[in-house]
Amino acid sequence: TAFAADPERYENAAFRRAGSSGLDLPAFSFGLWQKFGADYAYETQREIILHAFDLGITHFDNADRYGPPHRAAQQNFGRVLARDLAPYRDEILLSTKAGNPIGPSPYLKGSSRKSLLTSLDHSLRDLGTDYVDIFYSHRQDDSVPLEETVGALVSAVQQGKALYVGISNYRPDRAHQAAELLRDAGVPLLVHQPRYSIYDRTIENNGLLEVAEQDGFGLVVYSPLAQGLLTDKYLESIPDGARATASTFLSPDQITETYRQRTAELNKLAESRGQSLAQLALQWVLRKPEVTSALIGASSVWQLDHNVAALDFAPLTDAELALIEEHGVH
Ligand code: NDP
Repeated sequence: TAFAADPERYENAAFRRAGSSGLDLPAFSFGLWQKFGADYAYETQREIILHAFDLGITHFDNADRYGPPHRAAQQNFGRVLARDLAPYRDEILLSTKAGNPIGPSPYLKGSSRKSLLTSLDHSLRDLGTDYVDIFYSHRQDDSVPLEETVGALVSAVQQGKALYVGISNYRPDRAHQAAELLRDAGVPLLVHQPRYSIYDRTIENNGLLEVAEQDGFGLVVYSPLAQGLLTDKYLESIPDGARATASTFLSPDQITETYRQRTAELNKLAESRGQSLAQLALQWVLRKPEVTSALIGASSVWQLDHNVAALDFAPLTDAELALIEEHGVH
């Protein structure tokens, strides 16, 4: 049956302006890193993607690497786009990234002009679209002159293959240099995509928040739930099929006694607010004005509904933030 989007999808949806740009991103963006490859049922993936759109999530984050195998996630997204979301393409922000290794060839890794622009062409074919909204350099690559990497991003925009550009996992000094080069080229840096959660405070301590503010780019923060560690799911046991068993990126070894104690304390705080730990952790990343969007994953429609409801709760108080400092710091 043909998909018809919920006509009320924007009524409760929150949008936030990315830095000093003119573009609004949804408070929650949806990422297809895990369980959107050949490892998970396509019909479930489709249901989650369409449900996200119905919740007012207009931004979908992909990369050439996401699978397994590499490229599979954006091919699956491309199927949903062609079959269900094509009439809504103008209401959707599609992101993709290049520069992380996807093969042994020197042109299937790194941030050379050759590697980035070839990957983008391939991603456009995977997604079945003429352009992406945001094209990212996936990681800082010090073996390539920054001018070359930035030049490839600028070309992507000039060729009409991307509307905006982003960088991901760049240290603050290189992010600042990239922002300056992009500004000089007339293609301002829209967003930087770093990791950020109660369990990873790096960007609060390395100066990235300040650089984002000064250079006028937004932050799209990934793994705000620390891949599921900032939920109550691992407090008692490790459920079958959860990411700690299903992915090489999260290991059961990370579910230690110390982890459980800290997480139980945070969980108690969430309960005292009448919400779940996942909801508290999402509110926590969005409390920073430099954070434009929290980039979440989900393996079910239930998780999505549950997580998006985080915005329905009162803001965290100073006393609650202080308690999170006490229990959340490594
Ligand atoms: P999260 O920290 O939000 O983790 C999401 C995962 O946690 C879900 O897939 C699910 O895993 C579990 N989960 C979510 N909600 C709940 C809940 N309410 N209760 C219990 N478990 C829950 O983000 P991700 O680590 O998935 O990253 C999000 C996106 O960020 C990626 O898809 C990608 O687009 C981007 N990213 C970018 C990177 C980069 O280098 N630029 C690196 C990493 C991610 P499960 O049910 O399977 O256990």
